[in-house]
Amino acid sequence: MSEHLNIAIDGPSGAGKSTLAKAVASALQIRYLDTGSMYRAMALFATRRGVSVSDEAGLRTILDDADIRVQYDERGQRVLIGDEDVTDVLRTQELAMGASTVSAHPCVREKLAELQREVGRNYDVVMDGRDITTNVLPHTKHKFFVTASPEVRAERRLKELRARGSMQETYEQVLADIKLRDHNDSTRAYMPLRQTEDSLRIDTSEMTIDEALTTLLNAIAEKQDR
Ligand code: C5P
Repeated sequence: MSEHLNIAIDGPSGAGKSTLAKAVASALQIRYLDTGSMYRAMALFATRRGVSVSDEAGLRTILDDADIRVQYDERGQRVLIGDEDVTDVLRTQELAMGASTVSAHPCVREKLAELQREVGRNYDVVMDGRDITTNVLPHTKHKFFVTASPEVRAERRLKELRARGSMQETYEQVLADIKLRDHNDSTRAYMPLRQTEDSLRIDTSEMTIDEALTTLLNAIAEKQDR
């Protein structure tokens, strides 16, 4: 078990997990680990090696070479493959789908979850993902399940894409993508997304980020005092 403050946040894509996790990290002055970016980096690495993200046997052969690292600088978390900083190319819809497929393979999850646990052992950290409460940090008392309706999540994702200048996606496509990823993430055989009994559920559909943040910080403070 870690001596450090470990905060675990799980939930479906687009629920506001990363915005909240970043805000928690900044309020508590601790690190933020976006575990999804590590699965995205794995999908990128496989693609570059010419291995399909659905090819378990092929993935096994390149896993030892997949030198995925996480570092921190003044911009926050950076994800590297070897010495190459790939952080800025990971936030595409294509790599999101690739990550969703690649993350279903137990060999990939085992490798990345161990890297994530190491961060938890060494630092005070808030992590968000799909299996943080169930698999990566199951011992922590600070567990959250952050969710929102698929429609609200699709609207938010579309806004984010538009803000980045991406105009080609439609609301229907984004909603369909979200539903497909939800389905993949919650029905995969190994470590599916699910809410643990001891997680506090926060539905952000009708909440502002500030309201959700206050709920989270209060819950953390309450448990820290105990
Ligand atoms: O959170 P993000 O959208 O970047 O995650 C991309 C994909 O990576 C998710 O749809 C999910 O399939 C996978 N993932 C995972 N476990 C995590 C984080 C992400 O399976 N801890």
